[in-house]
Amino acid sequence: MLNLVIFGAPGSGKGTQSDLLSEKYGLFHISTGDVLREKIKNQTELGKKAEEIISKGQLIPDELMIDILLKVMSDQPEAKGFIFDGFPRTLPQAEALSEMLQKNDNDIAAVIALTVDENELVNRLLKRGEVSGRTDDNLETIQKRLTVYRNQTEPLIGFYKQVGIFHGIDGIGTIDHISGQISAIIEAL
Ligand code: AMP
Repeated sequence: MLNLVIFGAPGSGKGTQSDLLSEKYGLFHISTGDVLREKIKNQTELGKKAEEIISKGQLIPDELMIDILLKVMSDQPEAKGFIFDGFPRTLPQAEALSEMLQKNDNDIAAVIALTVDENELVNRLLKRGEVSGRTDDNLETIQKRLTVYRNQTEPLIGFYKQVGIFHGIDGIGTIDHISGQISAIIEAL
């Protein structure tokens, strides 16, 4: 099994790159943001709760998020591997993910981080907001999301560096150039 984490701030291009990778390597793409938005669309109990949190730019509680992820993974017993996009976002999530994979003798092969400076992130997200219809792609919520990223998610870089599976790449450039760099990392694993 080949499991990859595509890591980065909101607007760094994780979704775009995960889609390409999933196609190229036949891996199952899990975007936890997409999973939550689907639940919001269906107005499930969980969806309603998630909607409020997401529109404030905050994070869904770890326990809930870990349960959701477990369910998505167990619905894909035939997967050759997973691309995690938007998960983990906190240390407890990172620990839970490793534990879940280890239970089945699996692990994360690489954490690939896309680095983009904050000005560019804000510009990209504002632009996306013009077409995405997402309640969280407005300036106020974007700024909150970036703060949450800095405080809660960025510390995972140190965690994964310590584990020895962290790879950082420049997230500014053409989609093709960036995906080429990601492929080079995967093929060298
Ligand atoms: P994304 O599409 O990845 O930008 O996620 C959109 C929003 O969904 C985030 O701002 C969070 O509110 C929520 N979310 C997505 N993934 C997670 C996660 N792993 N942990 C907590 N909240 C999450």
